[in-house]
Amino acid sequence: MAVIGIMSAMHEELAAVLAAMPDEQRVTVAGRDFWVGHWQGHAVVAVLSRIGKVAAATTATALIERFGVGQIVFTGVAGGLGPGVKVGDVVLARSLVQHDMDASPLFPRHEVPLYGRSRFETDTGLSDSLQRAVQAVLADVQQHVGPEAVTEFALQSVRLHEGLIASGDRFVSSTAECRYLQQALPEALAVEMEGAAVAQVCADYGLPFAALRTISDRADDDAHADFSRFIRAVASRYSVAMLSQWLKSL
Ligand code: SAH
Repeated sequence: MAVIGIMSAMHEELAAVLAAMPDEQRVTVAGRDFWVGHWQGHAVVAVLSRIGKVAAATTATALIERFGVGQIVFTGVAGGLGPGVKVGDVVLARSLVQHDMDASPLFPRHEVPLYGRSRFETDTGLSDSLQRAVQAVLADVQQHVGPEAVTEFALQSVRLHEGLIASGDRFVSSTAECRYLQQALPEALAVEMEGAAVAQVCADYGLPFAALRTISDRADDDAHADFSRFIRAVASRYSVAMLSQWLKSL
């Protein structure tokens, strides 16, 4: 099988992935550390995406050009936008859009100039196989994060959502901006800062892409106080459990 590229948005997630790889070797390209090795018997290259669209696009391009990965899976956290998309839920992207792309009136709002479209779809087969892994992990969250985190972050009835993710170079943390995005892109389930850029790079190279995001906040005025504790106690544990389960199933 082709080498699998795993992009993590947060340091803590990458650390959890590296702890699960028995043999990773560091290779530095473009100021980024790429970790080449195996996980569940599959050849993988794990890397921190870095934050924002350009940084993530450079990381994805290096994964493809220098490491020859045949598919990319992205994991990270995101702000919930859709109704009922709450902290601790997971969003599996079926398509992505850049919410801050606006070359109007030359091109329709959100359309990426010269691509003739605003949405970039994820790979159906890859996303379907990840969906099964996510469902398995969410069915028993406590096993992965422990009972304290379940209580602290109210993870009693977490669920998986599938659909549109919006990406842009802004950390959305005000109710006003959250409402604005909900109006501009009513189907968007979540907002983050990298996914649509990586989806575009993968479309350019004809590479299968999938993206999973754990909801860390509601992208509003009360983005919860302890973002980094949530990443450590919940999001990085979900990511490693979901990826590991998925790799085992291949
Ligand atoms: N304050 C954080 C900043 C992390 S940047 C820190 O101390 O590290 C935010 C990361 O989380 C990005 O990778 C982005 O994709 C994602 N993210 C989570 N919630 C978001 C939101 N409400 N708006 C935009 N990006 C969000």
